[in-house]
Amino acid sequence: MRRDQERWTVEIEEAVLGHNAGFAQQNREQFERIGLLAVNIVSSPGSGKTALLERTLTDLQDRQRIGVIVGDLQTDNDAQRLRGKSAPVVQITTGGYCHLEAQMVARAAEKLPLDELDLLFIENVGNLVCPASYDLGERVRVVLLSVTEGEDKPLKYPVIFQGAHIALVTKMDLAEAVGLDAEALRRNIRQVAPQARLLELSARTGVGMDAWYAYLEAARVSAPSHP
Ligand code: MG
Ligand code: ZN
Repeated sequence: MRRDQERWTVEIEEAVLGHNAGFAQQNREQFERIGLLAVNIVSSPGSGKTALLERTLTDLQDRQRIGVIVGDLQTDNDAQRLRGKSAPVVQITTGGYCHLEAQMVARAAEKLPLDELDLLFIENVGNLVCPASYDLGERVRVVLLSVTEGEDKPLKYPVIFQGAHIALVTKMDLAEAVGLDAEALRRNIRQVAPQARLLELSARTGVGMDAWYAYLEAARVSAPSHP
């Protein structure tokens, strides 16, 4: 890339992120004002974001009032899966756009009864790169990594882990089948993201889910500091 092109690219990026930051701040203020815990869920495609939400909505439905915003490139399959639960679900179809931005969340949130909710889950587009750069106004950012993805993922995509408050290792029921080196995976996450809480769970069997619920409960009461 030529030098002037490079500078132009940087300026565009800064303008886009600055625009996003303004909307993120508005979202954050709105969520905080009404005491709503907003959780931004990021991971690569297929790490189990929707499965985590399905289980969480079922298990917490009597304890928390939950709303969901689901971002997807093309389909509303995930939203359909979640609509079987009692929580209101709003779909954002990004039309190929590879991450959610704060303004999209603001628009989607207008369709939810925010005042009546305790918890808002935002399922981001499956992508380990640019969602790291876009604050949505959430209080908690959670990154998922399934045991099928390889122990070195955190080393390859450190930024998304560095921006997370909590890392969930998912699909632990498959750990033995895929020959997971759990110690190496933990070490790699801790190396790139020492600030993040680390939990291991399986939405299918329910193992480890209680610790996730306890984390959410605690985060509602006292905000974790942003990394
Ligand atoms: Mg999904
Ligand atoms: Zn993107």
